[in-house]
Amino acid sequence: LGRSLSKTMKKLAGMTIVDEEVVREVIKDIQRALIQSDVNVKLVFKLSKSIENRALNEEPPRGITPKEHIIRIVYEEMVKLVGEKAQELSIDEKPYRILFLGLQGSGKTTTIGKLARHLRRRGFTVGVVCTDTWRPAAFEQLKQYTEGQDIDVYGDPQNRDAVDLARKGLEEFQKKDVIIFDTAGRHKEEKDLLNEMEELSDVVKPHEAILVIDGTIGQQAREQALAFREATDIGSIIVTKLDGSAKGGGALSAVAEIGAPIKFIGTGERIEDLEVFDPERFISRLLGMGDLRSLLEKVEEVSEEDISEESLDAILSGRFTLKDMRVQFEMMGKMGPLQQIMKMLPGMGKLPKDASKMTEETIKRYLIIMDSMTDEELEKPDIIKHSRIRRIARGSGTRNEDVKDLLKYYKVTKKAMKGLGRRKLGGPMGQLMR
Ligand code: GDP
Ligand code: MG
Repeated sequence: LGRSLSKTMKKLAGMTIVDEEVVREVIKDIQRALIQSDVNVKLVFKLSKSIENRALNEEPPRGITPKEHIIRIVYEEMVKLVGEKAQELSIDEKPYRILFLGLQGSGKTTTIGKLARHLRRRGFTVGVVCTDTWRPAAFEQLKQYTEGQDIDVYGDPQNRDAVDLARKGLEEFQKKDVIIFDTAGRHKEEKDLLNEMEELSDVVKPHEAILVIDGTIGQQAREQALAFREATDIGSIIVTKLDGSAKGGGALSAVAEIGAPIKFIGTGERIEDLEVFDPERFISRLLGMGDLRSLLEKVEEVSEEDISEESLDAILSGRFTLKDMRVQFEMMGKMGPLQQIMKMLPGMGKLPKDASKMTEETIKRYLIIMDSMTDEELEKPDIIKHSRIRRIARGSGTRNEDVKDLLKYYKVTKKAMKGLGRRKLGGPMGQLMR
């Protein structure tokens, strides 16, 4: 889906005039891409209609070209298709009880490991309860996924009574901030499974029931979600296996229709492959626009303050001195690490590993070091050799190695920046930045 949509957007970006025919052609491409990713046909037509209506009837706001106008409309309407705003879990009561639901194989146990880790990292104490009496070694699997994370797990392979397990786990973890209940996804009959979920729900009284849906099933996700909604109030949804699935768009749009927010998506089998689901971010990525929205907002924010258009230009062009790097460090403070900024720009995902390892502390140290440099040195870093390094280190109260590290970092970054110039920025992003 991603590839063909971003191709469509590129096509649009390359057009000089946008007329009715062009709008229709773009819409056709989008329809094709969405239907291929198993988005419900009715939904696709609804979307096309609103894009077409808006594109042909709304005047582009002042300062925006017709082309940008259409890109924006497509973007906004597609965001609506998968939800509106990103929503984090809010742990507002303790112990906050989360009941996981979903068919066998949908990814519940894996996702519980991921979520428990995510919550633990946010500082919450977490207990996980295994009530799955169907899957062989369910308890072992759960222990494995939470191992080494300072997360407690309760289970009893001898006990065949899911509701009793839930009750005991609840008691066990009264002092935790969060209790997560893993459940079975299989029974002899679907009816039995849903009954068990209902009973568990009565005992656990979850603050939030999270439904886990396998993203590879496409628009079938809708029926599954509706069936579980019969058994219990679904608070939120997690769609898994969105890594490499062609049907992700179908699953996401289908469950978005159910009305419960999608809070996270699973993007791989590893414990860290869980992302807070942010519709805006997701769609801009899908359209091959990088994190268009957030980037534009952030660039605006930053450049309004103290960073001139000129500096930004330098950063995005090959002309890159230590002065520019200083500006870049100052931006990092506001926008997050460079790696993240670059990820938002299409085709720029790759920066030297060093860039992502930059800690706030290092940035601060480097800024201090640069304060001890002369204007000439900042403009022409090549002249900084032995005696200058010693002087700068002394002046800034750092070691020679620190200054050398800074210079090394500068060289690597400069190399990475080469060729990432504004003029070479293709696609809608390039159009908008120009
Ligand atoms: P459960 O039966 O619902 O508890 O599902 P499991 O957690 O046991 O997961 C079933 C399979 O899906 C396992 O092989 C997981 O590794 C895999 N899985 C879970 N989440 C993801 C994901 O986001 N991406 C991928 N590629 N695989 C996943
Ligand atoms: Mg499981």
